[in-house]
Amino acid sequence: MMELLQKQRDFFQTQRSKQITYRKEALKRLQHEIIAREDLICDAIYADFKKPRFETIFAETQFVLAELKTTIKHLSTWAKPKRVRPSLVNFPSSDWIHKEPYGNVLIIAPWNYPFQLAIAPLIGAVAAGNTVVLKPSELTPNTSKIISEIIETAFAPEHVSVVEGGVEVSKALLSQKWDYIFFTGSTRVGRIVYESAAKHLTPVTLELGGKNPCIVDETASLDLAAKRIIWGKFLNAGQTCIAPDYILVHQTIKEELVEALKKHIEICYGTDIEASPYFSRTVSATHFNQLIALLEGQEILFGGRSNPEDNFIEPTLVNEPAMDSPLMKGEIFGPILPVISYKNDTDIAKVIDAYGKPLATYVFSNKKAFQNKIIDTYSFGGGAINDTLIQIGNKRLPFGGVGQSGLGAYHGKLSFNLFSHHKAIIKKANWLDIPLRYAPYNLPLHLAKKIKHFF
Ligand code: NAD
Repeated sequence: MMELLQKQRDFFQTQRSKQITYRKEALKRLQHEIIAREDLICDAIYADFKKPRFETIFAETQFVLAELKTTIKHLSTWAKPKRVRPSLVNFPSSDWIHKEPYGNVLIIAPWNYPFQLAIAPLIGAVAAGNTVVLKPSELTPNTSKIISEIIETAFAPEHVSVVEGGVEVSKALLSQKWDYIFFTGSTRVGRIVYESAAKHLTPVTLELGGKNPCIVDETASLDLAAKRIIWGKFLNAGQTCIAPDYILVHQTIKEELVEALKKHIEICYGTDIEASPYFSRTVSATHFNQLIALLEGQEILFGGRSNPEDNFIEPTLVNEPAMDSPLMKGEIFGPILPVISYKNDTDIAKVIDAYGKPLATYVFSNKKAFQNKIIDTYSFGGGAINDTLIQIGNKRLPFGGVGQSGLGAYHGKLSFNLFSHHKAIIKKANWLDIPLRYAPYNLPLHLAKKIKHFF
């Protein structure tokens, strides 16, 4: 591991990874390898936790290919020095922002979108001219293997390498000095990563989780709201960092919403959900057991069946869980959806304020004032009005958390900027040298007090 990092450091020193053509060629090779293996990637993620092929194509391979397409197309423009207007105080000068790679980047990825969340940040890091060591999640070993194969084929190891393994490997990597660390995973491990990075003052991006509220008021288009909530919650069996964690519904329409939710679960997955090819499994026996334990003592409105042989848990609706029950303590991250009713804004605040800032928030309402109130009042990473998850579907929008849901944001051009240090450069002309700044200071102080107009 030490050797690999040293090799990458040496390679970075050669300046090759900074060449635009080198970066582009590397990304094109990555693109080629992903296109060639799209079916194998689907097979790998299916083998890991039965993710439906459509979901892998939609949310993993095609997502990443879209990022690659945009990045390859715009890389030369993004990498160009960006001129800014000079200030009079420096006259005469020309001023610009010079984008330089940080150097040696470490990316640590989670298991839930094991391909997308490993490769999307990698694209930004390579585009910006860095070297990368990527550690995929050990909980999705088949995906980890195919990622490793793709990277080995597409990149020279001194440029980009995969290091496979679990917590110990991750810890060993974190003990090294990196120039940038990009971490996606839980808030708990995010803290560990942040502490390790602090030792070397290494900048970090932390893409973490949270308990994402989904608020449905009495004016919402209920059937459509239910359909979109069911989609966002049960895609990937609820193992999506921006999935709605719980529903807050106005008490007057709760029953109607619950009926609509049940109806849409059946439309999507049928009555024998275990036999549905469209529903993933939870990732491991440990995760399965933790989720099943959350259901203890809860009133179940729908679902609740499970099969430990296959880590299968039915989409499950829970009625009014107590706020101090384990289900409402932390992020659920599985196919369990609590439904909580509210009477007024104070009730909403009481629930949302019980947690740290979430990664996402959703509001279903046809009242503009209510939509705006939710957006303005609560702090969260990003969200949607009258839908779920779709904020990730626009590369021009930043994707990231705030507070305990994370630090930093990426996608599209923002990924390139995230992995670039923005170096301020001023080129001073020599044909004029205004003497005012040099001692002995001759400018009367009452005139010096006007200098603010010249910065
Ligand atoms: P995790 O934090 O358990 O693991 C993430 C990575 O960290 C893995 O590669 C793992 O090997 C490594 N790791 C685990 N324990 C470690 C330790 N003690 N020291 C060093 N490294 C360690 O997260 P997970 O279970 O893979 O993913 C689920 C979590 O990730 C959820 O909380 C979810 O909300 C969050 N998530 C966030 C985003 C986002 O974009 N913000 C996306 C997906 C998942």
